[in-house]
Amino acid sequence: MNKNRLLAAAAVFMLLPFTAFADECELVIEGTDQMSFDKKKMSVPASCETVKVTLKHTGSMAKDMMGHNWVLTKTDDMQAIVKEGAAAGLDNNYLPEGDDRIIAATEVIGGGETSEVEFSTEGLAGEKLTFFCSFPGHSGMMKGRFEVK
Ligand code: ZN
Repeated sequence: MNKNRLLAAAAVFMLLPFTAFADECELVIEGTDQMSFDKKKMSVPASCETVKVTLKHTGSMAKDMMGHNWVLTKTDDMQAIVKEGAAAGLDNNYLPEGDDRIIAATEVIGGGETSEVEFSTEGLAGEKLTFFCSFPGHSGMMKGRFEVK
């Protein structure tokens, strides 16, 4: 019994350093039924070659009512993507198809769902970047600064 506990504790200690290292490049953000993200700012060190962002919708409303996605663009491109995304509709995750101004985007999800996206940080260090939800009417509330530094 005691020996097993010791082994379990040792295993946790061995895993911790790896977990902490990976965490720097893996971010989690939550969206709610109150049309909000739980973060206004996200950042990763430039040493991350790729970043993984996981979006969790912690509410219960359906995606056609209170859907959320997590989209990353240069701050200057955001308004155009929001406008063109609204016209593209839910079937296209409220994003213009194949638009290379979109650096990264998850699909639109509803309450209880999770979606993730992984992308390269190449060329992003020092850029002015904004993350937002492109569901029509949401980006005023649901946006924030994203930094690679
Ligand atoms: Zn939204």
